[in-house]
Amino acid sequence: MTDVRVVVGAAVLDGGRLLAARRSAPAALAGRWELPGGKVEPGETPEEALTRELREELGIEAEPVERIPGEWALRPGLVLWVWTARLVSGEPRPLQDHDALCWLAPEQEHEVDWLDQDRPAVAEAMRRLSGN
Ligand code: C5P
Repeated sequence: MTDVRVVVGAAVLDGGRLLAARRSAPAALAGRWELPGGKVEPGETPEEALTRELREELGIEAEPVERIPGEWALRPGLVLWVWTARLVSGEPRPLQDHDALCWLAPEQEHEVDWLDQDRPAVAEAMRRLSGN
């Protein structure tokens, strides 16, 4: 029996770039950049949660492609799992939780202040984008 809750994060890739989202809340995280996502709800698969979160937070349709191996502790009882995702339609807009978005090419990985827990998955997504 486990009561670890999963947060899904999406490394949305399009045109050789990765989508980064700047958090607007809570105060402790505001201004830091993350892979958009959120908690998996009861009865949902992580992939369904990812699709739902991207629709709610950014107004886009996207589909999960592959999981980036690993899991990262957020706080006790909460872990982050990350998928790469393909933008299917829509132009991302910060509708909830974020106040800015940007698309980063691999060489721009360090131009934003990523949340610490997102950094390993961001690095792996950028490696995949640059074909390494
Ligand atoms: O977005 P939401 O509030 O549902 O996320 C739940 C928790 O997961 C928050 O504490 C948030 O900071 C964290 N999170 C994260 N990295 C992400 C997405 C969410 O650390 N890429």
